[in-house]
Amino acid sequence: MISRKRSTTLSAGLLTGLCLAASAPGIPATAASYPVKRAALTRSPLYTSGRLPAARCPEKPVTPGSVASAKRYVLPLLDCLGASWKTQLAKARIRFSEPGVQFITRPGRVCGHSWPKNAQGLYCPSQRRIVIMLDKHLTRQAEDLFLMDVIAHEYGHHVQNLSGIEAAFNGLAYRGKPEYYEQYRRLELQAECFAGAFIGSVWDSLDRTSDDWDYLLEATRESGDERTKVRDHGKGRTIANWLSRGFKAAGPGACNTWGAGAAMVASAPA
Ligand SMILES: [Zn+2]
Repeated sequence: MISRKRSTTLSAGLLTGLCLAASAPGIPATAASYPVKRAALTRSPLYTSGRLPAARCPEKPVTPGSVASAKRYVLPLLDCLGASWKTQLAKARIRFSEPGVQFITRPGRVCGHSWPKNAQGLYCPSQRRIVIMLDKHLTRQAEDLFLMDVIAHEYGHHVQNLSGIEAAFNGLAYRGKPEYYEQYRRLELQAECFAGAFIGSVWDSLDRTSDDWDYLLEATRESGDERTKVRDHGKGRTIANWLSRGFKAAGPGACNTWGAGAAMVASAPA
């Protein structure tokens, strides 16, 4: 087993963004916790669809710093994600379609939105498109599992879109910024859990050691709302917890963030 070389420093943050409302509503804040009761979110058939297929998805070699090499790594990975989630959605009786894919190397306007600060990936729900920012930050650490996590996370948003979860999220009422952000974190943490589930399902076909996985978890703990100062993804430990839960279960049944208690979807302290 070859352990791939790692970046010498921890990732500056596993910061992935979802193309949704750029600004939170200007309604007075309240301090309660907010259970989500919508069945499309809390009782999705995805949660009882079992494990993802134990598929083979060997990683392509990738040269750090090379955009072309990163693309050659990502495209077959997207094929693996598509094959696995297509099978899974069929089990849950949800119609599948492939997402579009776009690579960019610098921030700009994407699907009508400004590129979110520090994001490496974005999902555009209306166009069903995954956009990946192959900038130096991402390509330099292309040998780490970080790149796979970014791609699998954005694919997780695509799964949320196909399964009606994202539409149900958009229809949720909220009574202020804290509640809105908590709902948003449930969406983001679920995408991260789906990423973990996929990585867990193909893990045996990867030329990776447990150190590689631990490194990703550690980098994830170092990321999150503590760094961005926006309470929309969860604190680093919260994100790592859902990534780990998905990985261990290797299926979306572990990813019902909508039914989880407030502590499970916590952000950084204000
Ligand atoms: Zn996201």
